[in-house]
Amino acid sequence: MKYSLQLGKIYGIKVQIHWTFLILLAFIVFSNMRSGSGAEQTLWSILFILTLFFCVTLHEFGHALAAKNFGIKTKDITLLPIGGLARLESMPEKPREELIVAISGPLVNVAIVAALYPLVHYTTDIESSLKELTAVNGQNFLFNLMFINIWLAIFNLIPAFPMDGGRVLRALLALKLDRVKATAIAAKIGQLLAIGFVIVGFYSNPFLIFIGIFIFFGAKSEADYTQNKSFLEGYFVRDVIMKHYQTLETTDTIEQAVNMLLNGQNKSFLVIENEKIVGTLNRDEIIRALNSSNKQTLIHTVMNKEVISLNVEMPLAHAWQVIQQHKMLMPVYASNKLVGTLDLENILEFIMVKNAKNN
Ligand SMILES: [Zn+2]
Repeated sequence: MKYSLQLGKIYGIKVQIHWTFLILLAFIVFSNMRSGSGAEQTLWSILFILTLFFCVTLHEFGHALAAKNFGIKTKDITLLPIGGLARLESMPEKPREELIVAISGPLVNVAIVAALYPLVHYTTDIESSLKELTAVNGQNFLFNLMFINIWLAIFNLIPAFPMDGGRVLRALLALKLDRVKATAIAAKIGQLLAIGFVIVGFYSNPFLIFIGIFIFFGAKSEADYTQNKSFLEGYFVRDVIMKHYQTLETTDTIEQAVNMLLNGQNKSFLVIENEKIVGTLNRDEIIRALNSSNKQTLIHTVMNKEVISLNVEMPLAHAWQVIQQHKMLMPVYASNKLVGTLDLENILEFIMVKNAKNN
């Protein structure tokens, strides 16, 4: 993720903090100052947030290490103000494996609660702490930490995408049904819950409205994703490649790229130097270059220098994942010979056609 600060690498997984996290810390300092709390109270609040996010990181490692068991790598874990995000290279599609990966996160929070309980039991008067929820301090620190981990486990197990509980529900349904159907049912249940949240939110806590909307669209996008992916099953890159690709030289100018954009069908181009592909250039990059420099700027200064190649024999569903991650034009090879290109648009058109035929 862009604009993230890398904290370190554990089990080969990058752990990073997104810059917006600093806003959260600034907000805590600011709101403590405004309410007139002293430096000590502010420090306790910050320490609490950092500890909470340490628990969130452990939750994400729960998912990542469970996935590792099934041979699935995790690229990185990013901490955002709203929670953590483990980017798994793929989700396991076997129901039993998905169930284990999805539930491992919340189980970490349950384990933290179990570990904290004896400490809290002996150091805190739980009953009075529950009655009187005050700002975090040395006395109630562990109690609050336990309390919030209970909440994290419950919140994540809400049976609706994109929460872990949605995946657990889908995996359970997929033990009996096919995956597309299981996802559709799980998504419907999630959307009903989401509507319930919004209605209850109107009468009580507006935060529930926000969660409801988040879940509603999360459910829809998961159902669409699974449906689309099933359309690609059984096809290969060779079935959708663009054979009529166009190339630019690194020494060509932006003006030439603009002319190609306006006069042809292609919106992305391969960039060539000494007959080798050294980059790509798409419409957005051309427009950006036009805005920030002049028409005579050479392509090699503005092109995307990353080149990811695909093979014609690659399953289309896999290519789709790669393209979604990188969102760029990719050259396609058949035994070392360039035969065409592929980008997100080609695959989306293919999905649209399949979808139309199915209806
Ligand atoms: Zn999770």
